[in-house]
Amino acid sequence: MHEFAVAQSLVDTATVEARRAGAQRVTVIHCRIGVLRQVNSDLLNEAFSLARQGTLCEAAELRVDKAYVQASCGRCDHAYTVRDWEWRCPKCGAEAAELTGGDELLLVSIEADVADEDQGSEERLST
Ligand SMILES: [Zn+2]
Repeated sequence: MHEFAVAQSLVDTATVEARRAGAQRVTVIHCRIGVLRQVNSDLLNEAFSLARQGTLCEAAELRVDKAYVQASCGRCDHAYTVRDWEWRCPKCGAEAAELTGGDELLLVSIEADVADEDQGSEERLST
């Protein structure tokens, strides 16, 4: 199951970041996934709720930003978002576009409770 591998890697990365920051538990995992990854969000949420068990991310909320396909025109250098799999450059009509985004799988940030701040304040970590 593809989504499980994605969820597992998010939990692993978030756990490493949280440990590095001395956090007790992760409250939010914010990630960015390109549409080319073809991750099904229902399956991802399901996989995430399994993957986080017994980790610092056990109570974490998963927030996913969808990243659309980005292309750069080989003829006029125009950078644009590919919608409905229409690869042609909207400016000059050339079909030779270079893929510049849409296949990312990134952990954007995590929010975590840090131990030595007894108010349970949240620290925002950026990767
Ligand atoms: Zn163009």
